[in-house]
Amino acid sequence: MKRNILVFLIVLTVVFSTALATTYVVGTSADFPPFEYVQNGKYVGFDMELINSIAKAEGFNVQIRDMSFDSLIPALKAGVIDIAIAGMTITQERQKVVDFSNPYWFANQDVIVGKNSKYTVTVLFGNHTIGVQTGTTGDLWVTNNLMKAKILKESNVKRYQSFIYALQALLNGAIDAVVLDSPVAERFAQVKPVKIVATLVTGESYGIAVRKGNSSLLSKINDGLKKVKNSKKISELIDKYFGK
Ligand code: GLN
Repeated sequence: MKRNILVFLIVLTVVFSTALATTYVVGTSADFPPFEYVQNGKYVGFDMELINSIAKAEGFNVQIRDMSFDSLIPALKAGVIDIAIAGMTITQERQKVVDFSNPYWFANQDVIVGKNSKYTVTVLFGNHTIGVQTGTTGDLWVTNNLMKAKILKESNVKRYQSFIYALQALLNGAIDAVVLDSPVAERFAQVKPVKIVATLVTGESYGIAVRKGNSSLLSKINDGLKKVKNSKKISELIDKYFGK
């Protein structure tokens, strides 16, 4: 009898603590495999499992909100989301408006073209059309290094709200190349008829962003990140999403 009561109390505690745990709204931009993408109607990917593992380790719940990449920081600022995880590079500009966790991944920028195209790195120069995703570090690189240097005209750069559209435009020949993060370019080169013709060494680190000054949430995220990195979960995730 006593045992039954004990079991009942344990079940009750588990049910209540899960129900009472804080839920944080997590913004992402699910067009960025293998970090975040939609599969069978679900948000999946390395970042999605990483934030779920951090939440589990720290005892909070998460609810995913998909939006365009350039809406994530405004949404954090406006309090529409509490956390942003989207292969987001830690940059000085962004650090002025949001706070970032410790880095969890590294990337450069790659240039991709159609699989059968004759373009090389020189596609970046001359009268070609280059696609980027609005507000990304790829967009910044093209703007700062090619447009401002007058190597490319404004009309030679096409900005897309999503990599899905940029990729579509590349595949149907509307643009000549796309500049995007190297881990994602590598994935696209495995699953789509595109190839990488150059790497721009930008040395970027990805971080998880929270509203500026939200130090209590940031320390939970950093603490959870450390726990996940020290557990076997991290190699499981790396094998699952980056294994050949
Ligand atoms: N890492 C790039 C950036 O932060 C691209 C991220 C993305 O498109 N999801 O700008």
